[in-house]
Amino acid sequence: MLKVTGLKVAYGGIQAVKGVNFEVHQGELVSLIGANGAGKTTTLKAVTGTQPVAEGTIEYLGRSIRGQGAWDLVKQGLVMVPEGRGTFTRMTIVENLQMGAFIRNDNEIDADIEMVFALFPRLKERRNQLAGTMSGGEQQMLAMGRALMARPKVLLLDEPSMGLSPIMVDKIFEVVNDIHQRGTTVLLVEQNASRALGLANRGYVMDSGEITMTGDAKVLLNDPKVRAAYLGE
Ligand code: ATP
Repeated sequence: MLKVTGLKVAYGGIQAVKGVNFEVHQGELVSLIGANGAGKTTTLKAVTGTQPVAEGTIEYLGRSIRGQGAWDLVKQGLVMVPEGRGTFTRMTIVENLQMGAFIRNDNEIDADIEMVFALFPRLKERRNQLAGTMSGGEQQMLAMGRALMARPKVLLLDEPSMGLSPIMVDKIFEVVNDIHQRGTTVLLVEQNASRALGLANRGYVMDSGEITMTGDAKVLLNDPKVRAAYLGE
């Protein structure tokens, strides 16, 4: 469904992504793990059209999407939930969800808002609250809900558990699993390697701009090198 080959991205003279290859097949949940600064966010931004690509190919549904802007990609179902969430702070929860559906003109938008409220009852309770006044965990829920409003075929999540309390982390991973079980293909970028690999079908490990390991998520989770580097063992 998504196939990235030889991806290179640079910031000025600094190579942040140095020739990365990965694939996400339809129906999979794939986790991309790695330490701070490994290049995970840069990779997602390049795929979703918010960071220019220096070299490489990016194919989505069998066609090249390299150079296409984020707007066009969202219309095609490739939707990212950015690190730091990026909610519209001066808008209410309901308005943020409506914004997520900006590319749609069907009459099922209200029904989808109810679907998001069913996934995240907390958002329903606070539907008229300004997004900027919500907790970090609530904003993460809202960012995910807003992305779902675009009816993604592939949902790319950038560190959804970052900075959240343990209970909130549980809730976020539960919903990521739920979204996947309902049929959405997911690419999950995380520093929380054990949780991310615990949910995933397959995983990739990224280090200093390169993919250093890949394989079945459970195999990676039990790999001594992964456990030593990313699980503090
Ligand atoms: P984190 O988990 O900390 O977000 P990451 O794996 O997502 O890390 P990136 O954010 O992709 O890593 O960063 C990869 C490298 O690119 C880092 O060395 C970072 O400092 C650098 N970098 C990221 N964004 C920029 C930018 N806008 N300008 C210059 N360098 C950048």
